[in-house]
Amino acid sequence: MPVGAGRFAPSPTGPLHLGNLRTALVAWLDARSSGRRFLVRMEDLDRVTSSPVHERGQLADLAALGLDWDGEVVRQSDRFGLHHEAIAALTAAGLTYPCFCTRREVLEAASAPHGVPGRYPGTCRNLGAATRAERAAAGRPAALRLRTDAETVRFHDEVLGDVEGPVDDIVIRRNDGVPAYHLAVVVDDNDQGVDRVVRGDDLAATTPSQIHLLRLLGKPVPAYAHVPLVLGDDGERLAKRHGAVTLAQLGGDAGSVRAALAVSLGLAAPDERPTAAELLERFERPPRWGAGAAVWRSRRSEMALGAPPECGEPRGR
Ligand code: GLU
Repeated sequence: MPVGAGRFAPSPTGPLHLGNLRTALVAWLDARSSGRRFLVRMEDLDRVTSSPVHERGQLADLAALGLDWDGEVVRQSDRFGLHHEAIAALTAAGLTYPCFCTRREVLEAASAPHGVPGRYPGTCRNLGAATRAERAAAGRPAALRLRTDAETVRFHDEVLGDVEGPVDDIVIRRNDGVPAYHLAVVVDDNDQGVDRVVRGDDLAATTPSQIHLLRLLGKPVPAYAHVPLVLGDDGERLAKRHGAVTLAQLGGDAGSVRAALAVSLGLAAPDERPTAAELLERFERPPRWGAGAAVWRSRRSEMALGAPPECGEPRGR
């Protein structure tokens, strides 16, 4: 049996904030505590916003926290060949169609009375060959979408429990020819031997579409654990506007940032400064995933648990 792998897959489009770092720490703990390899993959599909400077900064932050990874860091932009092979296989199976809609058209149609917000309204699904040729001749670049049939996918999430959701006609190749995120992520996870996906719960809603894609490609489905994001004290997802939220902005003291993250995971008491190795010892198998949403109190520079596992007591000792 080859050893499985876990991974952290940031987009190198800016410095990692506490929420990203917390997800990285949990993914690392999960992989290392189960004897898996831990991989870092740079999701740099967007060539405009991605930069090597951010990539270096993100890797330096992970290293400063004591999170190590196996092998070379992989970049999605080096793997387009593999992605295009999968796109070609889906197209050969009649499972794709060109979509000429702009982002705004999709949003408008989805917010119409019979539209479903967040879902592709199907505008281009059944265009005739003549209309397609006309649109293409008019110079509208086409994205490629997956043809789905309102299937629903059920999966077990280790944090969220049983989840059921609709699959969507997701874009698998953008209209600039670049492989789209959903396609790249499942192809890369599979190719890299990732069998446990630990990531932020903002991605849970699109997981049914990713699982559907994996099944169409005849690939195994990994285990999923979608962990809560860190929130700012206004209850919104942590972001730049919440003030000092990156390791550098917080003074660069990796030990205190690791401690704050550990408190938010129920793995340390507020006055402790555990090492990464100590956290690994405390991380239980199977993971209890008990700690709920974490709130970053920017004014006090401290992490609080939205829903403490056991009356706020640290666990795992
Ligand atoms: N690259 C994605 C992000 O930075 C994460 C993708 C994933 O973990 O599947 O949000």
